[in-house]
Amino acid sequence: MASVSLSKITKSFGGHEVLHGIDLEIGMGEFIVFVGPSGCGKSTMLRVIAGLEEITSGTLTIDGEVANGVPPGERGIAMVFQSYALYPHMTVYDNMAFGLKVSGMAKPEIDRRVRKAAEMLELTPYLDRLPRSLSGGQRQRVAIGRAVTRDPKVFLFDEPLSNLDAALRVATRLEIADLNAAMPDTTMIYVTHDQVEAMTLADRIVVFNEGRIEQVGRPLDLYERPRNLFVARFIGSPK
Ligand code: ADP
Ligand code: MG
Repeated sequence: MASVSLSKITKSFGGHEVLHGIDLEIGMGEFIVFVGPSGCGKSTMLRVIAGLEEITSGTLTIDGEVANGVPPGERGIAMVFQSYALYPHMTVYDNMAFGLKVSGMAKPEIDRRVRKAAEMLELTPYLDRLPRSLSGGQRQRVAIGRAVTRDPKVFLFDEPLSNLDAALRVATRLEIADLNAAMPDTTMIYVTHDQVEAMTLADRIVVFNEGRIEQVGRPLDLYERPRNLFVARFIGSPK
């Protein structure tokens, strides 16, 4: 059974269609990377999956259940953006615990989840700190850790490293690879501009172009057999 299934998905804004019938089956635990030029619909695709945008037509299935119309909080999805959106007046611990508290979870379970996520992301020494005393990379790890505490079935990342400098980008990419290994049943869908991120993280890469899928495949397959010049350019293959 697919973890996320997209069938003939379209999305329009005010009569202007930006996704033109997307079909894609994503397996449980897969790490899928979306690439493509700015404005081709990658973020919109993620937001539709997250339920932050309504689908115009087509069917979205998550874990075998039709998700059209299901509120974002009930989809088993967590999303990480390029801006960390942490609460500046709350400690790292409270930033990670906040959503769980709001959901009414019992304190011991919240504590267990926050400490486990902090351990996974090497944030344990920083739990009592405020976000402003952390580096950009550490802040992004808090945002990722906050998503981990929700124990999502599907993890969505929208260019999570693009605000970081080159060294932190590498370090945080390695953290995300470790996180993926530590959560083998969690499906990850990851948008990036960066070829190295795409080639090193992806089980399969989806190349978008103007609201359509140009090609889907494993990194090496796309690299060796790009369908056309457009794909070759995005994968960085020497075609
Ligand atoms: P990407 O993430 O690949 O850069 P987006 O999904 O952000 O692309 O945008 C795809 C297209 O949809 C663009 O033409 C963009 O202007 C348009 N778009 C995205 N969000 C909105 C919105 N809320 N209202 C109107 N148009 C939007
Ligand atoms: Mg985008």
